[in-house]
Amino acid sequence: MASLDPQGAKPQGRAEPTKRKENSASKAEVHPANPSTPKASAVSETREKTQGEKYERRGGIDPSTYATGTVGDRVAPVKNPEASSNRRASTPAQSQLGNDGSPKHPVSPPVPIPQPVAPQKEEQTLLAALHTDPLPRHKIPTPPPPPPPPLKPPIGRVAIVIDDFGQDLKMAKEFLDIPLPITFSVLPHQPHSKEIARLAHSRGREVLLHMPMEPRGYPQVNPGKGALLLSMNAQAIESSLRTALDTSPFFRGVNNHMGSRFTESAPAMELVLRELAQRDMFFLDSRTSASSMGVFAARKLQVPTGRRDVFLDHVQTEGFVRSQIDQLIAKAKTRGSAIAIGHPYPCTLKVLKEQAGRFAQEGIAVVPCGELMTTLPPESSR
Ligand SMILES: [Zn+2]
Repeated sequence: MASLDPQGAKPQGRAEPTKRKENSASKAEVHPANPSTPKASAVSETREKTQGEKYERRGGIDPSTYATGTVGDRVAPVKNPEASSNRRASTPAQSQLGNDGSPKHPVSPPVPIPQPVAPQKEEQTLLAALHTDPLPRHKIPTPPPPPPPPLKPPIGRVAIVIDDFGQDLKMAKEFLDIPLPITFSVLPHQPHSKEIARLAHSRGREVLLHMPMEPRGYPQVNPGKGALLLSMNAQAIESSLRTALDTSPFFRGVNNHMGSRFTESAPAMELVLRELAQRDMFFLDSRTSASSMGVFAARKLQVPTGRRDVFLDHVQTEGFVRSQIDQLIAKAKTRGSAIAIGHPYPCTLKVLKEQAGRFAQEGIAVVPCGELMTTLPPESSR
């Protein structure tokens, strides 16, 4: 049978009206159990424009689904799957259907499909054909798994200096438990200064002398025992500094405690830096004054130096310390390195413990302060 011939398709199509029910006028003649069905089929095979033929054209093959209206158009979309399956079971057009006989191009069915009655022999053959559809299915390509994220190379370095150590041994030990190479800066004449310096050194931490210097507001603001004052002569300054430096063999450098007034004096700072140069120590400017001459004096004397970029905890809340760490990391990413100074406060301790793993995640290496000191020439010729 020439399945592409509209005339030839008709006998196969005759079973299809059995699935259509919206045409109430055809109900009786399309039901397989209705004895009138074979009669109507026989007529449609021999002539056109009978009642059955009209039904077949209108209901069996929905003209709206065919661009050309040609019955045998095998690539046209189908709205009534069962009608199509009956007609095309022996043709390649069955590729229009999925395994379950439903169309591959889903469309909302124009009418509910009635439950089929027990399939007859011919239908069984057709159903079997549908279930062995040899044509390939549409396969959704599986995207390849994303490549593993590359390991972040360090994109910046930070030094975290905690100073004012010397009074509270327990707090110093807490900071030693933070798994970061924090730099410990120790005041010279406090009850636990020597012990903390020794302990920190023994745990592999870099240790600085936190040298007290005269602040603005002195003497109401007290920098502590052994402070360097502008009222001292050069000999007194040198003597006071050497005494402090000699309190521990573990100092690798110095940063100033207070000193917002003292550090603004270039001659006074040169006295300090001259001593550090002789001891091969570096100087970290805590930058308690924007006009500090510490870095200038250090560069003049070729002493490795740097300045504090971020104070972690001048507001003593965990939220503030976190935001300062954000700032520290951001600066290190932008400039390649940054230096933070914090204090032995509970909020600082807690946030540093909490964020100890974050620096590596951000590609930031925490290093001892001395690694970030430079020996650039003076910024100005003064
Ligand atoms: Zn201090």
